[in-house]
Amino acid sequence: MNSLYKQFVTAALTTLFISTLIGFLIVNTYYTDVTKHNTDEQLVEIAYHVVDFLENTPLSTEAVFEYLDSVALLGYQIHLDNFEGDTYVFGEPFNSSHPLSDSAKEIVQGGEVYHGVRHLKNGMFSHFDNELRNTVGVPYHKGETAYGLYIRASNDTVTTDFHKLLIVFLLIIAVVNVLGMLLLARHMTKSISYLTEATKQIAVENYNYHLHISRKDEIGQLASSFHLMQIKLRHNDLARKTFISNVSHDYQSPLMSIQGYAQLLKSPVIDDSERMEYAAIIEKETQRLSNLTNQLLVVTSLDQESYPMTYTDLQLDLQIKEVIRKYWWRIEEANIDVSYILPSTTIYGDKKLLENIWDNLLTNAVKYNKPGGLIDVSIVPLGKSVEVIFRDTGIGVEEEDLPYIFDKFYRVDPSRPKEGTGLGLSIVKQIVDLHQGTVEVESTPGVGTKFKVRLPLSRSIKS
Ligand code: ADP
Repeated sequence: MNSLYKQFVTAALTTLFISTLIGFLIVNTYYTDVTKHNTDEQLVEIAYHVVDFLENTPLSTEAVFEYLDSVALLGYQIHLDNFEGDTYVFGEPFNSSHPLSDSAKEIVQGGEVYHGVRHLKNGMFSHFDNELRNTVGVPYHKGETAYGLYIRASNDTVTTDFHKLLIVFLLIIAVVNVLGMLLLARHMTKSISYLTEATKQIAVENYNYHLHISRKDEIGQLASSFHLMQIKLRHNDLARKTFISNVSHDYQSPLMSIQGYAQLLKSPVIDDSERMEYAAIIEKETQRLSNLTNQLLVVTSLDQESYPMTYTDLQLDLQIKEVIRKYWWRIEEANIDVSYILPSTTIYGDKKLLENIWDNLLTNAVKYNKPGGLIDVSIVPLGKSVEVIFRDTGIGVEEEDLPYIFDKFYRVDPSRPKEGTGLGLSIVKQIVDLHQGTVEVESTPGVGTKFKVRLPLSRSIKS
């Protein structure tokens, strides 16, 4: 695998190489076009100074040599040629690999200037070539004798301490840059490796894997988004497991009792009244399973990210009256009195879902009521919203249980002999939320309970 780290290092080194190459080419062009010409001119000027002095000052040959020695000590290499085979060198000797060409001698012998520095084509480092051809030459006459005086600045003069410091400086920059790049690459890829490991752990459902990334850059943001996702997945996983365990338990107990009573029914020794009693229990448990399945269907469909709501204008008062009518037989059976004040109210909402709210609130008010108890249903218009109140005189809910009654599968006392799934009020809450409404509960144990559902309206209220 071509790892990110390798790509990073390759990119860093390639960048360094390319920048060096470009720098080298630019400097070389500048050197050939400008520096060489300037150096050549300066050397010609110096050579003429020396020759002027020597030609205008009557000096013995020894004194001339001494003078040229002194000039050489100032940082030059001088070559003196009398064109008859005699040559003299002052200062550091020249490399003998490239002797002075005949043309170079002829130019000077003819009284012209030899521009060896300017014309030498030997790449960038020709500046440092310690050769005779890398000099400038001027004619010099001592008495009747003609000489050629060739001069160049010695490499010690060309390479000053400043140049050496500059090279060290550039090398340090290059090394530190490369090391910095390597460290940065390691730092970046390390975080990405952590993230990769974390995703692998998520894939095997380990939602507790701790991500060791605390950075403030984009990778840090990615890590914190990942952490949020991890928390959400952990939460969902827990919710899923709890849901499955609750559902299995809620299915298991009616199934067990159906199985038990069905076995009893097979017994030849039971009488008719017992048979009827067992059949009634089986029927009740089957009904419970059917209710549970229906409510689970509603819960799972409401749980979906975007429930497809079907909004219509509907008559809220008529809808509630219809629900009361539907359960009339049950209300009468439980010997409960129902009163209502339901002014005509048009609301914009999902008809089926809203019906579910009133269905659950009314059946609870019946279920948790006392024989001879009361149920009062009312619609209170509040301008842009409406409040629907279900009040009963039932057994009520203890204060410590109130915060949980809207949770899925929460039943105040599961051992109470009332049938139920613990899903009804969670469905109510979900539907109210989907309609951007609120639901509140007030209850006094032994006295009764009041549910207040507030929903926004989109049409006017007629009374
Ligand atoms: P269930 O299927 O058990 O009725 P719900 O979600 O509808 O589930 O209600 C949750 C719990 O809240 C019930 O178990 C019950 O104890 C309590 N509860 C709901 N409505 C009433 C009420 N009107 N009076 C008293 N207790 C209630």
